[in-house]
Amino acid sequence: MFNLILFGPPGSGKGTQSQKIVDSYKVEHISTGDLLRSEVKNETALGLEAKEYMDNGSLVPDEVVIGMISSKIDATPDARGFIFDGFPRTKEQAVALDKLLQLKETSITTVLSLQVSEDELTKRLLERGATSGRSDDNEEVITKRIKEYHAKTAIVASHYDAQGKLVNIKGEGSIDDIFKSLSAEIDKYLQPA
Ligand code: AMP
Repeated sequence: MFNLILFGPPGSGKGTQSQKIVDSYKVEHISTGDLLRSEVKNETALGLEAKEYMDNGSLVPDEVVIGMISSKIDATPDARGFIFDGFPRTKEQAVALDKLLQLKETSITTVLSLQVSEDELTKRLLERGATSGRSDDNEEVITKRIKEYHAKTAIVASHYDAQGKLVNIKGEGSIDDIFKSLSAEIDKYLQPA
């Protein structure tokens, strides 16, 4: 099974590129941000718990997110593979994901890390805030999210670098050029379907 982590700070294009990868390679997309937003919208107990963290740019507690991922993987036993988008975001989540996959006799294949400058990230997130209706795309919350990325998430890259699985990809330029760079890496393991 092909298991990809699409890694990068908020605004690095993970959602946009995930969609293109799904269209081309027919793998299952698991975005913890999308799953959480859907829980919030449906006003579930999990959503009510998560909302406060999301609205101020903090990370939702690990156990909440890990439980959600586990049920989502179980829900699609016949998947060709998975793209994890916005997960893992802490070292604890990475360790939990490695264990979950090991139980299923599989593992992370590769981690593609989108590299985007901080100025470009802030610009993109502010633009998205003006059009997407996402409650967390305003200047104060964006600053907090980028801080959370540096404090808790950047270390996830080292976790997978130590396993020899981390590949840096230039995340600036046209959407199609970035997709070409990602595809060149994915093609080493999986052909478009
Ligand atoms: P995203 O759409 O990936 O930018 O996520 C939006 C918000 O959802 C984040 O700022 C966090 O509050 C929360 N979130 C998404 N994924 C995770 C995760 N893996 N761990 C903790 N919180 C998360």
